[in-house]
Amino acid sequence: MTHAVRTTCPYCGVGCGVLAAPDGTLKGDPAHPANRGRLCVKGAALGETLSEAGRLLHPTVAGARASWDAALDLVAARFRATIAEHGPDSVAFYVSGQCLTEDYYVANKLMKGFIGSGNIDTNSRLCMASSVAGHSRAFGADVVPGVYEDLEEADLVVLVGSNLAWCHPVLHGRLQAARAARGTQLVVIDPRGTASADGAELHLPLLPGSDVALFAGLLVHLDEAGALDAAWIAAHAEGFEAALAAARETAPNLFRVAALTGLALEEIRRFYALFAATERSVTVYSQGVNQSAAGTDKVNAILNCHLATGRIGRPGMGPFSVTGQPNAMGGREVGGLANQLAAHMRFDMPGALDRLRRFWGAPNLATRPGLKAVELFEAVREGRVKALWIMATNPADSLPRAGRVREALAACPFVVVSDCWETDTTRLAHVVLPAAAWGEKGGTVTNSERRISRQRPFRAPPGEARPDWWMLAELGRRLGWAEAFAWDGPAAIFREHAALSGFENGGERVFDISAMAGLDEAGYEAMQPFRWPLPAGATAEGGRLFAQGGFPTPDGRARFVATPFRGLAVAPDAEYPLLLNTGRLRDQWHTMTRTGQVPRLAQHSPVPAAGFAPGDAARLGLAAGGLVRLASPHGETVLRVAIEPGQRPGEVFVPMHWTDDFTSSGPVDRLVGAATDPVSGQPELKATPVRAEPLPVR
Ligand code: SF4
Repeated sequence: MTHAVRTTCPYCGVGCGVLAAPDGTLKGDPAHPANRGRLCVKGAALGETLSEAGRLLHPTVAGARASWDAALDLVAARFRATIAEHGPDSVAFYVSGQCLTEDYYVANKLMKGFIGSGNIDTNSRLCMASSVAGHSRAFGADVVPGVYEDLEEADLVVLVGSNLAWCHPVLHGRLQAARAARGTQLVVIDPRGTASADGAELHLPLLPGSDVALFAGLLVHLDEAGALDAAWIAAHAEGFEAALAAARETAPNLFRVAALTGLALEEIRRFYALFAATERSVTVYSQGVNQSAAGTDKVNAILNCHLATGRIGRPGMGPFSVTGQPNAMGGREVGGLANQLAAHMRFDMPGALDRLRRFWGAPNLATRPGLKAVELFEAVREGRVKALWIMATNPADSLPRAGRVREALAACPFVVVSDCWETDTTRLAHVVLPAAAWGEKGGTVTNSERRISRQRPFRAPPGEARPDWWMLAELGRRLGWAEAFAWDGPAAIFREHAALSGFENGGERVFDISAMAGLDEAGYEAMQPFRWPLPAGATAEGGRLFAQGGFPTPDGRARFVATPFRGLAVAPDAEYPLLLNTGRLRDQWHTMTRTGQVPRLAQHSPVPAAGFAPGDAARLGLAAGGLVRLASPHGETVLRVAIEPGQRPGEVFVPMHWTDDFTSSGPVDRLVGAATDPVSGQPELKATPVRAEPLPVR
């Protein structure tokens, strides 16, 4: 390939390196440590998503073309007036795990440091907020201890609520290669029999929402089987006895675990014995754990078992949260969540606010967390948030109660949306700003193993499209903070971000890339993928964390967390007897703005379909290919019927991707309710009671 640049895939959190040329030819980057040259089917089709057809090319105000100056002047005037009349918490940003770290950094600095509100949240709230909260409770900070090599060095990999084969395909390929080479055993814990369960030694189709009970039972078993690492616990952790007592309350014996999880006794015994006997164990978890009203407790129930065995931070051992989006992790590093500050600091860390105020010269630093995604849009609906900027995401389709979100946006006095393509959300905006897309702008992203990689431009943006960081900096300048938002490009933003990193928490430097603060333009351009922490002066990248303790808590010790079992937020009943589970397809991405352009990607699942267990379909009179109406208290949709042998009876699975652009029945998230995890604020996207009825095919 001539003139190829090294960049990073914009889809999932594996963060594969891509060699891309201006003509759209591309291939996997053999030098990138995440993928070593491999790409999945979505990544390999990226070159077919570069068409300018349908792109937003010019700013518009009330649907009419406007100049950048006119549009940004209006945005600044409306934000200024709203803040002056109603205070800083009357405005908000809702951003995205698609944003680059530099975009995120500027958005967070502007909202939290200068406007003075914590009201910046991200669609990553829907993706991994429960893991963030779980890590913070157990480790003292949101730090992922594992690295991808752990999956290749383990003797046992446990996938919990993770369809790794479809959602993180290249990482799944690395796991499969390791299984072939060293016989790694695989246990899949998921109500559905997904592609990830094919060939697994054990698949545990547990009842939705019962993960805490299963892992509470595992903690009890580890204790009774003498499989604890008492010396490690004594040296490096606190709270074991209380966590074990809570686990015993939930799961005093296997019969109770079986009753709560719906699993057979023999299945539970096999899993517990395998985990107890296998030191090199990695537990990978994803949205099936996180997207739950008990998501944070599920995370901590898993972490408890790894802390209890000292299986953390050593080769082939550890709990490992894999992120859904390409830069969900980068957003966490710069405070993209409403409850975080920049550089992995939190509002409640001693000295953090003072450090940030001085570093930024921030005149109006927010001193308390802002609204999390679901409550943010409820505040819009109630009129408490009156000016909102949505960036690179489509909440009119992707948030729970999507119909209600649309009503909120329609009623909001001022909505700005920056995006690359028209979406159901841009159609509700007063001002639409055309954003530069993947391949048209530069910056950095961080993958699931804390590896920071460059995204590099290899073609010019179409029309007047501009990077998101530039739009936000222009707003900052127009609001009167020209000096603080005077960067000339993403390298300058990255330098500032790096210089802010390395804050000590409990004697540990939580997130440290300060060695990068002196990078010049050439250095930024030449940046190779590296894993943090990168201590000052170090040349070697960071690896596993916490094998010898050193947790970023005040005393350097990890925390066991007692996780009492709670059932589903809303249980099925006679009126809504089925449970709706939403998730990804193998070949589509989010609301399909990009993958929907590639016909061959649609071949895998060409029509919107709801997957039923064969017995449920027969009982309900549903035939494969026929139509079914799904209804919940929040909305309804009509889909084709698919009969899926791997589906658990009593449940229906619907992909999250379809929008008004692809089906007249609308997005499935209009059916999902408002229940969220009380700690993380993450919505329960995988267990909504619904009813299903066949419709005649005309
Ligand atoms: Fe892109 Fe994820 Fe596929 Fe890698 S595995 S090519 S990051 S979608």
